[in-house]
Amino acid sequence: MTPRVLCVCVRAGLEAAYGAQARRLAGDAGQAAILSAETEPSDPGPVDRVYQVMDPSFDRGRGDHWAAAISAATRSFDPSLVLTGPTKVEVEALARAASTLGAPVVTRGRAVRITESGVQAERDLLSGNAVGTESASGPVVFLALAEEPSVGTEAVGSQTAAERISLPVELPAYAYRRVSLRPKPPQELDLEGAERIVSVGRGLQRKEDLALVEQLATVLGAAVGCTRPIAAESGWLSDEHWVGLTGHRVRPFLYLAVGISGAAQHLVGMRDSKLVVAINKDPNAPIFQQADFQVVGDLYAILPELTRQLAAARASR
Ligand SMILES: Cc1cc2nc3c(=O)[nH]c(=O)nc-3n(C[C@H](O)[C@H](O)[C@H](O)COP(=O)(O)OP(=O)(O)OC[C@H]3O[C@@H](n4cnc5c(N)ncnc54)[C@H](O)[C@@H]3O)c2cc1C
Repeated sequence: MTPRVLCVCVRAGLEAAYGAQARRLAGDAGQAAILSAETEPSDPGPVDRVYQVMDPSFDRGRGDHWAAAISAATRSFDPSLVLTGPTKVEVEALARAASTLGAPVVTRGRAVRITESGVQAERDLLSGNAVGTESASGPVVFLALAEEPSVGTEAVGSQTAAERISLPVELPAYAYRRVSLRPKPPQELDLEGAERIVSVGRGLQRKEDLALVEQLATVLGAAVGCTRPIAAESGWLSDEHWVGLTGHRVRPFLYLAVGISGAAQHLVGMRDSKLVVAINKDPNAPIFQQADFQVVGDLYAILPELTRQLAAARASR
């Protein structure tokens, strides 16, 4: 069966990238389309169809509106794969549409392929420590990418004059609106809900060295935690970062303890972490008894190198 790929372009200006993606997956023999809510979408590249939502009531920031558009475009185009990006709106839209149409959903997919048996994609698992390949099949598969696609340098497929179709969309009748929008103060941190935490203790010598911890946390997509002395005594971080008996009880997937001895009062706050990695220069530090991975060494040597290697690994994906 020749593939039919519909790419949903929620963010304006990415039409060419999604068009190229749709063509790449559909191949020259297949059919490629994009769905856009732009009245004048930028050049979508070598696709066969461009579905456009022209309804002035359509709200591009709403997942339920996009879900209605995706459902309508899916019914019209009959794709074997519907693909979109990684944002919350895109994932919500995809999940809603897939539920309406009884189709499987794959999120955070990379290296997407259409095979004889369905759609295959790789996904980061175990807090980014493993990569799984997953396969979904059905008349149509819905897939949200881990990252927005890029156009790439090489030409993709042959250029066709895309047919433009104004898509009628049945928008939900209920009322839903954003009441207000305020910038989030930087100290508002959801440590207890964090999936990954890089936590620092008195092994750190100067406040300025927090940059090492923050850089690692950024690369890992982690929140920054700390022991009581770092918050209560040094005041280098606010109380919101403090983990322990008298601080926050956290339960992330990954807890990376840096220069933390592992006092009982600290352990109480992080013992529900799934995977604990500890970096400490003292091989007898009590934290190692709680750690799944023990790294004995100087945090000042390890952190920059770890950050560099993780950033390089991420960039090469
Ligand atoms: C009533 C009470 C409540 C408390 N509540 C809490 C709480 O909620 N949370 C909390 O965290 N603490 C709490 N404490 C404090 C707790 O007992 C410990 O004092 C504290 O957790 C120790 O913090 P730390 O691990 O950062 O420092 P330290 O115990 O001083 O440990 C620093 C560690 O860094 C290592 N290190 C030093 N230099 C380096 C380097 N260059 N590279 C790698 N490793 C290095 C050292 O080997 C050491 O293991 C409480 C105490 C009391 C009495």
